[in-house]
Amino acid sequence: MYVKPLFVDKPPKLTKKQIEKVKQIVRENADGYCQECDHWFGEALEFHHIVFQSQGGRDTIENGIMLCHGCHRGTNGVHGKNGRELDLKLKLKLQDYYFDQGLSEDIVRVLMGGKLYP
Ligand SMILES: [Zn+2]
Ligand SMILES: [Zn+2]
Repeated sequence: MYVKPLFVDKPPKLTKKQIEKVKQIVRENADGYCQECDHWFGEALEFHHIVFQSQGGRDTIENGIMLCHGCHRGTNGVHGKNGRELDLKLKLKLQDYYFDQGLSEDIVRVLMGGKLYP
C-alpha cells in the first residue's frame, strides 16, 4: 500500500500516536513472520526503518519492515557488522518499489533520505 506523500520536501512531523499506528500496520502485515528470513517469530519481531531515521528515513508503512532479532541486530543482521549487504538489499527493494509506483526520480530521492542507491 502506497500513500502519495503530501509533503515531499518537508515531511510532516507525526505524533507518537500516528507513529504507533504505522508500526502497528507494518506489524499486522508481517503477521508474525520475519520479512527477511520468513521464519515465524510472533510478537518477538522488531520494527526496522529500511532507510534509517539517521539517514533521513521516515515513519511510513513503506519504510518499515518487521525483522527477527537475528536479521535485525545479529552479526549478519541489518545493523550487524556483516549486515551491509542486507541493508543495501532492503533499500534497493524499497527504491525499486517506489519507482514501480511511477514516482519521479526527485521524489524517490527524497523518500530514500536524499540519495539514490546504486
Ligand atoms: Zn529473520
Ligand atoms: Zn533497525
